[in-house]
Amino acid sequence: MIIMVINSGSSSLKYKLFDMRRKLALAKGACERIGIDGVMKYQTHTGLKKETQLPLPDHKAALTAAIAQVTDSAYGVVRNINEIGAIGHRVGHGGVYFSDSTLIDDAVIMGIRKCIPLAPLHNPAALMGIEACRAVFCAGTPQVAVCDTAFHQTLPPRAYTYSLPRALCKKHGIRRYGFHGTSHKYVGQQAARLLGKPFEECNIISCHLGNGSSITAIERGKSIDNTMGITSLQGVVMGTRCGDIDPALPTFLMREEGMSADEVDRVLYTETGLLGLSGVSPDLRDIEISAAQGDADAQNAIDTLVYQVKKYIGAYLAVLGYADAIVFTAGIGENSAMIRLRTLGGLERLGILLDEEKNNAYAGQAADIAAAASAVRVYIIPTDEEWMIACDTERLTAGS
Ligand code: ADP
Repeated sequence: MIIMVINSGSSSLKYKLFDMRRKLALAKGACERIGIDGVMKYQTHTGLKKETQLPLPDHKAALTAAIAQVTDSAYGVVRNINEIGAIGHRVGHGGVYFSDSTLIDDAVIMGIRKCIPLAPLHNPAALMGIEACRAVFCAGTPQVAVCDTAFHQTLPPRAYTYSLPRALCKKHGIRRYGFHGTSHKYVGQQAARLLGKPFEECNIISCHLGNGSSITAIERGKSIDNTMGITSLQGVVMGTRCGDIDPALPTFLMREEGMSADEVDRVLYTETGLLGLSGVSPDLRDIEISAAQGDADAQNAIDTLVYQVKKYIGAYLAVLGYADAIVFTAGIGENSAMIRLRTLGGLERLGILLDEEKNNAYAGQAADIAAAASAVRVYIIPTDEEWMIACDTERLTAGS
């Protein structure tokens, strides 16, 4: 079966085409600057790359152009659109409505729409992708929604409740939802394979550290806590997002700086985090260079990130009682040996012992970087959210 995975943004539509039988990503592409002018990027598994300018007035035009690319007689990877058996969509927020991936019908679209107040940028964009598919593919092609929040619907009330008046919480759906669920589930399942145990028997702390970062406590295969909250601002410090701050700070800024609610939102989402701390860049690589040159703010940005990740690992170890494994994934988690070393340094008495040579030698494949004597395994596992979405899509559409 050929499955198309779509990640639809407000002005972009990224896609990946999988041959499920061969476990192969045939092609991937990005339609960018939708509604502005239009840029199409395309790459096949054989290494062919193309970038073209093309007017893309809306998501339907973008998807039509993407289908033209993957079916092109010269550089396409499938003969025609009917070879694509199903579509999997990445959906940002599923609220309390989706605890698993789900086949899309009108009720599911309504559910995604109901979550727009919780994800005002992401959910409308996902809906545009779904509507474009409905217009471009034949009616019988099944579509599946894979929500970033779904894996965390197993959080117990004590982990998801905010101590606000119950009536307000009920009225607005205020609670911790957690994010990066597709990634945490994928690396958790891969960790279970490395541990040689069923996922349902594994306790895992999964650290997804990228531009956006979150950490999950997985107890016997189920998410029981995640550092992100009702929005993706909470938790550890991120590229441009603040992570945990005193809840009174937004109103403090409104009073003292005369900021509007929208301005505070903009600052917290785009000017804080590693960028705000370092004053250099949201990218850890730039910050590492500045810190090495003696920049104290850059060094503090690294120290703060390390401290917060370490703090949550400790908290989740306490919550779980024990962990079979700690997993590092995403841009920082997979690539920064320094962050992994410093985060786990000094945790020997908690049974966590890194093999420094293995930590430094990581080469892009899933790897166990714990010392032989470590009671807790430490894994680096490259995340693959698109493959996870494709697998869920196949599971839900098999036989349709
Ligand atoms: P996103 O959350 O947008 O998917 P990624 O998971 O790709 O982001 O993570 C991007 C971040 O990973 C970059 O901003 C950078 O800070 C970090 N990163 C990538 N490669 C390295 C590296 N070799 N060393 C340190 N940090 C890295």
